[in-house]
Amino acid sequence: MSLPAGGRSVAQLLADLADAGPVCTPEDDVLFFEPDYETPRERAYRVRAAKALCRSCPALESCRAYALATHTTHGVWAALTASELRELRTGNQPREVA
Ligand code: SF4
Repeated sequence: MSLPAGGRSVAQLLADLADAGPVCTPEDDVLFFEPDYETPRERAYRVRAAKALCRSCPALESCRAYALATHTTHGVWAALTASELRELRTGNQPREVA
């Protein structure tokens, strides 16, 4: 098994994230993960609110390392959407990076 993110395993990256003191809780999932249906305007508001919470989070860097290593395909992680994380992973600079 290969190790992502500077030789650290996914389990180590997750432990780093937990140790860094994330500010989000499971109750915040309504901000971070898209519901079955939302309008573009609702999505924009939800994503903006999620990113704002991330920008106040001391675990942002650890969260980003974990999200990049696990190739997450949905949600907002470390102030980036899954598509923005994909751009970052492929070497493209997302339009908006915290
Ligand atoms: S950066 Fe955002 S998604 Fe990651 S732990 Fe912090 S608040 Fe949660």
